[in-house]
Amino acid sequence: MDKPQHECGVIGIYAPNEDVARMAFFGLYALQHRGQEAAGIAVADGQTIRLHKDVGMVAQVFTPQNLAPLAGHFAIGHTRYSTTGSSNLRNAQPFLIETLHGPLALAHNGNLVNTAELRRELLQRGVGLQSSSDSEVMTLMLAGAKGDTWAERLENTMPKWQGAYCLTVLTRDGVYAVRDPWGFHPLSIGQLPSGGHAVASETGALRTLGCVAIREVKPGEIIALSNSALRVRQALPPQPELARCTFEHIYFSRPDSFWDGLSTHQVRVRLGEELAREAPADADVVIPVPDSSTPAAIGYARVSGLPHNDGFIKNRYIGRTFIQPTDSLRKQGVALKFLALEENLRGQRVVMIDDSIVRGNTAGPLVQLLRDAGAREVHLRITCPPIAHPCFMGIDMGTYADLIAHRMTLEEMRDHIKCDSLHFLSLAGMMRALGRTSGYCNACFTGIYPLKVDTAHTKTGFEKAIV
Ligand code: SF4
Repeated sequence: MDKPQHECGVIGIYAPNEDVARMAFFGLYALQHRGQEAAGIAVADGQTIRLHKDVGMVAQVFTPQNLAPLAGHFAIGHTRYSTTGSSNLRNAQPFLIETLHGPLALAHNGNLVNTAELRRELLQRGVGLQSSSDSEVMTLMLAGAKGDTWAERLENTMPKWQGAYCLTVLTRDGVYAVRDPWGFHPLSIGQLPSGGHAVASETGALRTLGCVAIREVKPGEIIALSNSALRVRQALPPQPELARCTFEHIYFSRPDSFWDGLSTHQVRVRLGEELAREAPADADVVIPVPDSSTPAAIGYARVSGLPHNDGFIKNRYIGRTFIQPTDSLRKQGVALKFLALEENLRGQRVVMIDDSIVRGNTAGPLVQLLRDAGAREVHLRITCPPIAHPCFMGIDMGTYADLIAHRMTLEEMRDHIKCDSLHFLSLAGMMRALGRTSGYCNACFTGIYPLKVDTAHTKTGFEKAIV
């Protein structure tokens, strides 16, 4: 599908006398939408760390048999979509290595923008690398860092990492949660009902585990999970201007997740409301592209006074298979994933609400699907501004050349998609929906990056050396 792809979801658990591997499994299950290419869980018992990881979805990777040996009190887990480095087992996480100070495992959500420089430094010191992942670079840097404790080693290494990182780090007797000082992606921590703590990319996963008293890991913090009070260390001051990823609210996060004090579902409703004020349409019905655009369609309908109805039925499982469709099925295109509800569309002038257009290769077929089902007009409304710049902080949107809004004007896009009208929500409208005036990264819309990026960098750039 034509959607930005998130890099990963991470989880960390300290729960004495619990089956932490099984808890991590269900936590990862709740984060499956953040990465569907590989999954892994590492567990420590005070002496050693055991790991199981593989390519595939969480439910494909883990079985009762391979979870059983993962016994201990401390766990971290990772579900992966590849950002730096393509999807293969070598890049699957957590990374686990032996160090002078005992075993160390690391799970990373995000993307560093200075990986090339950090890799070169490691290679010059004779440190071998097995994968093309920036997360392996981070693991090896930590292993060689100065400091008497892991918290000190983390604190001494963090200034060298430029970019987006939410980490869960496992040692033989501890779990740490770490967040970059820009605060690009969410990481929250909660208290488990049975004692101990859990940390996860989204509050939805923490609630799945029954957590209460949930709070964010603040930008620049290192938190050691424990049975009672959390041990919190402000390792780096938060950047004066935070750079939360707006796309977490627009598309990535589960609608039941909270971030920056905002409910994702409520933000999406307000995005639809703003869109209806900015770009009304002479139409009969508002139809969302499910699932992430459904709250926005509710908001658009509320403000416009138009009825809201289902127009697409989504096969929620089609994206979750590694079996490639046959050529004749592939020609069906979006019909493998969506079918149109003719009875709701026949003779109707439709407002179709979607959350983003990246490459622009599915909006056209979706519009056609509505027309084939009898829609008289299709007016496309998008709940964010045009994406004209790539992301270097962990969201895969492709390169400049891939982005339709970089190549085409609004009118050219409308022609390409073949809709009757096309409007994107303005930057100001989007921020109004968030109720924020600053503290967010909007670089994919504006081209103004919160830190220095190498615009020539591509996702598989390091794989020429590692094949
Ligand atoms: S560039 Fe866009 S997708 Fe990337 S972190 Fe910033 S807001 Fe998020």
